[in-house]
Amino acid sequence: MTATTAKPEKGYRWCDRCRRSFAPAEVVNGACPVCGGPTRSMGRLQAIARGIMSNELAAPDIRTKHRQLVRLIWTRNGMGQQYYRVIAPDLSYAKFEARVTELLCAGATEGWVRFVLPPAPSMDENEYRMEFLDEERFLAELEAAFADVVLHEDSPSPDAKERT
Ligand SMILES: [Zn+2]
Repeated sequence: MTATTAKPEKGYRWCDRCRRSFAPAEVVNGACPVCGGPTRSMGRLQAIARGIMSNELAAPDIRTKHRQLVRLIWTRNGMGQQYYRVIAPDLSYAKFEARVTELLCAGATEGWVRFVLPPAPSMDENEYRMEFLDEERFLAELEAAFADVVLHEDSPSPDAKERT
């Protein structure tokens, strides 16, 4: 048996439930001061690294919010419905909207469309906008993205849809 328990606590205490660390002085009898659950001893660096990893785990939420923002911007002022009517795909509006949002996110990565945001949340909706740096590219991508679900009225053959 080694006398490890006799030493004064040097490291930090980590609570698995709250996913954060506490200074030794904040923890009484090993209980988390926030939730009262058990804590375990952890070196300072490890406690900091674990905190960073916890934030990392929350990152997909930011990505989801970012995608929602892109969707809100391009569908603004009934634009989503307008595109839907013009393209008239054999898809529900929700699926159409999701597909265009993905396309525009890819476009922003590739650089043919840009989403402009105000520096801080604003009441003026016009400050949230998208700008096409290459409109031709957008139209081509849009056509390609819905080629499988759009039946052109002027198609020479009624079997054209079968070829997909
Ligand atoms: Zn806790």
